[in-house]
Amino acid sequence: MRRIGENIYTEIYFWGCNPSFITTNDGVFMIDAPQQPIDALRWREVIATHGPVRYLVNTEPHGDHINGNAYFPGIEVIGQVGMKERYERAIPQMTGAERLESMKQTDPDSIWLLNHPSYPPNPPTRLFTEELNVTLGDQTVHCIHHPGHTPPQTSVYLPKEQVVFTGDNVFCRVKTFIQEANPWEWLESLDKISALDVEVIVPGHGEPCDKSYLKEQAQIIQDWLGAVEDFIRRGLILEDALKEPRPNVDPYPIGQRLFANSDNLDQRIITNLYNQISTRGKQ
Ligand SMILES: [Zn+2]
Repeated sequence: MRRIGENIYTEIYFWGCNPSFITTNDGVFMIDAPQQPIDALRWREVIATHGPVRYLVNTEPHGDHINGNAYFPGIEVIGQVGMKERYERAIPQMTGAERLESMKQTDPDSIWLLNHPSYPPNPPTRLFTEELNVTLGDQTVHCIHHPGHTPPQTSVYLPKEQVVFTGDNVFCRVKTFIQEANPWEWLESLDKISALDVEVIVPGHGEPCDKSYLKEQAQIIQDWLGAVEDFIRRGLILEDALKEPRPNVDPYPIGQRLFANSDNLDQRIITNLYNQISTRGKQ
C-alpha cells in the first residue's frame, strides 16, 4: 500500500483498479473497492486499522471499480446519477456463472465469497448530477462529474490535500482503455482536472503522477482519434478498418494485471471511436 499524503492511501498492486482511501477524525472515506472478493476482505482489514468506513464512492461503472462494493455491506455508496443503471446492469456479470467459472482458474481463494449471503450487491444510492461535497470530520471531499472514459465518470478532489483521484480518466504509463469512451468529453475533462489545484493525481491504473502527465494522456486519446479519423477519411468501412495494421499510438504496455481484460482491446477501441466519429458527423 502506498501512502501518498498524511491521510491518503492507495494500492496499485491489486488485480483491477487502484482502490484508495482517505482517513479523517470521523472515519474513513473510500474510493473504489478491490474487484476480487478476497482482496476486498484484505483491504477491509487494512482500512479497519484507520477507523470505521463511512462512505465509498465509485469513480466509474467498470467491474474493477464496483465489484468490491458488496464486501462493504451497510456502507453508503456514492456515485454519479448514471451509476445506478450501470450498476444494476453489471450485477449479472458480477455474480453470474461465467465469473464463477473464470474465478476457478484465476482466483480460487475468492470463490467462497461469490454470492455469499452476507455480501449482497451494494449499489450506489447517494447519487449526484454534477458535484457532491461530503464533509467528513476534518475533510471535505468533492465528487465531480468528469465524463470521458465512461459517461458517469467521477473525480474525487481533496483541495486541502491537493490530491485528485481520477478513476480511469487517467491511465498513468499503462495502456489507455478507450473501448466505451466519448473521446471529446474525455479531453474536456482532462482540461478540467488540469485546472484543479493539485500536486498529486491518483489514476485509475498505474502509478500516482502529477499534472505534467495529463498532456501525454490527452495526446494518446488525440492520436487514437486521428488514426481512426484517417480510416474514415480513406473511406474504409469499419470491417476493413479493423483489418488495417494497428495504429501505433499508445506507447505503454497493458497495466498491472489487466491482461484478462485486454483481449481485442485495440479492436474494441477502433470500433468505439469509428462509431463515435460517424455519429458525431451526422449530428
Ligand atoms: Zn474503467
